[in-house]
Amino acid sequence: MAEPKNVYTFADLKDWASVTKKLETPARIAVFGDPVEHSRSPQMHNPALEAGGNDCQYVRLHIKEDELIEALGLLKDAGFLGINVTIPHKGGVFDQVEVATDVASRIGAVNTVVVEGDQLVGHNTDAPGLKRAIREQFSVDLTDLRIMIIGAGGGAGKAAAVQCAMDHCDRLVLVNRTLEKAEALKEELVELMADPDKLEGPASRLVAIPWEEKAMEHELEQIDLIINATSLGMKRTDPEIVPQRLIEPHHLVYDMVYSPSRTRLMVAAEAEGAKAANGLSMLLWQGVLAYEFWFNKEAPVDAMRKGLEDSL
Ligand code: NAP
Repeated sequence: MAEPKNVYTFADLKDWASVTKKLETPARIAVFGDPVEHSRSPQMHNPALEAGGNDCQYVRLHIKEDELIEALGLLKDAGFLGINVTIPHKGGVFDQVEVATDVASRIGAVNTVVVEGDQLVGHNTDAPGLKRAIREQFSVDLTDLRIMIIGAGGGAGKAAAVQCAMDHCDRLVLVNRTLEKAEALKEELVELMADPDKLEGPASRLVAIPWEEKAMEHELEQIDLIINATSLGMKRTDPEIVPQRLIEPHHLVYDMVYSPSRTRLMVAAEAEGAKAANGLSMLLWQGVLAYEFWFNKEAPVDAMRKGLEDSL
């Protein structure tokens, strides 16, 4: 019996039965991405598949943009139960699925697909995964918070913003280097944020501002939770996401980045007496929710958490 490859290709998918016939456990779930070799999802899901008594394993599939449509069309006949989707395919998969959930449609991105008969059903578990992560890390709910999302122009920032708006958080401040993207997102969220039970205070409940110190300083006084959804923070040479002097002890700081495990933003927040957490919990909970969509049963969360922690 053979071990699975670290990364399979589109050519492998086209001949899946024969390429994987020597595997002890059939490969019936995968993550699609380009690149994909960095994905920790197999290390998180395979212990869960084993602990849950599911006779299948999870592998990486390197799928390029021009291969995506055909690759999705091959899933059913290759015996897949579903897939996860990572960069750059979340929008492309949303365009292809026959059915998409409300949250996936609002974000315009799918990170989890379930093969249901002849249909591909698209979910987005990044958004509710963030919600669960905030609950777990800080023992609070999005609905009760005034939230600043930095990086509101990207896919993760949009997923976070849609979830915050769906939960009618107290305030939502969208920050982005390219202001036009934050402003466009703000327009999309106006209706969703409307909540007759939450009165407009002196500061508007939905704001878009540029990623500039002065503008952030003005808003941060009325913020409880700061979320980093930019791609900054993985490299030592990356600039500061929020100037340290603007972080106050009452702030909760959630960095979607999880490598390094103590990010520069977390170090700065903790130095100012604020609580801080990295993005590992979001990765975990989006995976837990994906598992529950594939198998329609409770996920073995502890096995997933351990698999993820061991992978770091
Ligand atoms: P993305 O779509 O490429 O968006 C990147 C965002 O970062 C944009 O808002 C962009 O601003 C901003 N940005 C990039 N470089 C910048 C710079 N030099 N200065 C200021 N802003 C900059 O990426 P994504 O998919 O949303 O992912 C964002 C981050 O979230 C990544 O680190 C990713 O690993 C992480 N993530 C974590 C999880 C998790 O489970 N923990 C899940 C999803 C994503 P512009 O619009 O101005 O370009």
